[in-house]
Amino acid sequence: MDVSPEGLAESLAELVRIPSVNPLHRGPIADAAGPIGETALAEHLAERCRSLGAAEVVLDEVVDGRPNVYARFDGHTDRLVVLDVHTDTVTVEHMTDPPFDGRIEDGFVWGRGALDTKASLGVILALLESWRTADVRPEPTLLVVGSVSEEAGGLLGAARLREWIDERGATIDQLLVAEPTELAPIHGHKGGAAIEVTVHGKAAHSALPDLGANAIQAMAHVIAAYEAEHRRLQDIAPTTELGTSTVSVTTIQGGTGGNVIPAECRITVGQRIVPGQVANDVHERLIAIAHEASPLPVTCTPLLPPQADGTFGSPAFYQAPDGDLVGLLAEAAGTRPTVAPFGTNALRYSGLARELVVFGPGRIDDAHQATECVSIADLARLADAYKSWLQPR
Ligand SMILES: [Zn+2]
Repeated sequence: MDVSPEGLAESLAELVRIPSVNPLHRGPIADAAGPIGETALAEHLAERCRSLGAAEVVLDEVVDGRPNVYARFDGHTDRLVVLDVHTDTVTVEHMTDPPFDGRIEDGFVWGRGALDTKASLGVILALLESWRTADVRPEPTLLVVGSVSEEAGGLLGAARLREWIDERGATIDQLLVAEPTELAPIHGHKGGAAIEVTVHGKAAHSALPDLGANAIQAMAHVIAAYEAEHRRLQDIAPTTELGTSTVSVTTIQGGTGGNVIPAECRITVGQRIVPGQVANDVHERLIAIAHEASPLPVTCTPLLPPQADGTFGSPAFYQAPDGDLVGLLAEAAGTRPTVAPFGTNALRYSGLARELVVFGPGRIDDAHQATECVSIADLARLADAYKSWLQPR
C-alpha cells in the first residue's frame, strides 16, 4: 500500500491543474483560466473523497458560493484528527511560468499552489486511494478539510470550520494545518491585530494654516506614540520562542496638494501578538493610543473580521514543543520542531484541538513567487510522515 513518488506527483499535479485563485487575487490571467475562486477545486475534492469511501462529505458554503469541504474517513477508533488544507492560492498575474499546467519535471511538480498548499492535499488523497485499494483504514478517524479564503479575506474558511465543529459538538484530538514548513512541525506563531486610523482635520490655504487643522501633522503624533509602544514592548522579556510583541505602521495616505492644509490622514497599524496577550485588549489599546495621541478627532476601523465571539484580533498560537504530534512528525520527517514568523489558519484554531501543529513540505520563502514548485522527494517524506501519524492497518 505504498504510493510511488510518481503517483504522489500525479495526484498533486491533478490539483494544480484546477485553478483556485483567491477572488481577491483575481486578474486577467486567472480570469482567462476559468472560474475564479475555490469552488471547482472544492467540488473535485468532495467528489474524490466520495469515491475514496469517505463516510461523510459536506460542502459547506462559507461566502459567495465558495464552500469548505469536510470529508470524514472512519478509522479503527473514533479519536478524531483533522488535516486542514486551504484550497485557495495567491495571484498568478506575475508568474513567469505556466500557472496551471501541473508539469512534472526535474524532480518537481510545478504550478501555482503546488507548494502552497496543494501538496498536502495531493499526498493525503493518494494515500487514501492506496489504503482503499489495500482495504486498510487509518487508526484514528480522519477529517480532511479543504478551507477557503486563507490567502486573503480574513481566514473565513478556518473561522467557519471552527463554528461547524462547535455546532456538531465534536472534539478534535489533533489538528494539522498544512503550510510549507520544510517538514518541520511548527508549534507556535504570533497572532495579530490591525486597524486603520483616520485623523480628521480641516482644509485651508497653506499660506493661512491657522484657518485649518493639519491632519498629517496630527498623525505624526499618533505614529510617534505607536513607535513608543513598540519600544515599550521590546523591554518585556519574552516567555516563549516567539519573542516579543511588535507594532508597525505599514501604510499612510493623506494630503491633496502642496498648498492645501490636509483635512485627512490615514494609516494602517498592526501589532503582532504573543502568548499571554489578550487579542481584543491589544486591539482596544491600539485604538486608545490613537485617541490619546492625536490632537485632532480620530476614527479607527478594524481591518480583519471579528472572531466568532465578536472580539477582534487573533491570539498567538503556541503549544510546548513536547506534544505527541510534534514529536511524531519531527521524527518521521527528520526535522526539529520550531516556530514560524508567518500566520496561518491556526490563528482561528486556538483551543479547538488538544494538539495543533502546522506542517508541510517546501519553504515558505518560495511561496507566492513568479514560479512555484515542490520536490517529489518532499512529497514522499510527507507521505511517510502522514503514515506514521495515521497508522493505517
Ligand atoms: Zn498557504
